[in-house]
Amino acid sequence: MTGVLAVQGDFLEHEKALEALGEEWFEIRKPSDLDRHFDRLIFPGGESTVQSKLIKELGMFDRLKEAIDSGIPVFATCAGLILLCDKSSGADGCAFRTIPANVKRNAYGRQLGSFYTEGEFKGLGTIPMEFIRAPYIESIDDGVEVMSVTDGQITGVRYKNQLAVSFHPELCDDTKIFEYFLNM
Ligand code: GLN
Repeated sequence: MTGVLAVQGDFLEHEKALEALGEEWFEIRKPSDLDRHFDRLIFPGGESTVQSKLIKELGMFDRLKEAIDSGIPVFATCAGLILLCDKSSGADGCAFRTIPANVKRNAYGRQLGSFYTEGEFKGLGTIPMEFIRAPYIESIDDGVEVMSVTDGQITGVRYKNQLAVSFHPELCDDTKIFEYFLNM
């Protein structure tokens, strides 16, 4: 049962991908949703400063952080990745700081704000990658595994129970990353 953070962003697309793979899910919008049982967690794309603010204002920060720390599989895309990284150069959108990595927000500039490419993802071969005002990871600390590199920049990482990517697999037809997450 996957809990999908649904305070802002493209949570619907994540839900569709889970649905396609037969995984049950529910939306986390308010603290009482966290009383339900879940053994996986998704942080969708969107706007990390807004998400970070809402998580705190709605009183869900501590329990979500506890859930991440408990070791259940966590999957985060784009803004979700920013929420998980522990450092950011430039404008901060970090919240949980559970991945020891330095993230750069809106890293591709205005011209390249959004683009589509295909690239290697560790263990999965070539997959489609949709970038939308995406961050990339400038540096990682010990224990962080690099899962994908796009044009020389780190765009996918795994750290213990957390899988986080700069791009949006939920906007592509390919479900390989979701399958990977469901097998974590
Ligand atoms: N630019 C957004 C941020 O800084 C992330 C964009 C996305 O999730 N597509 O939070």
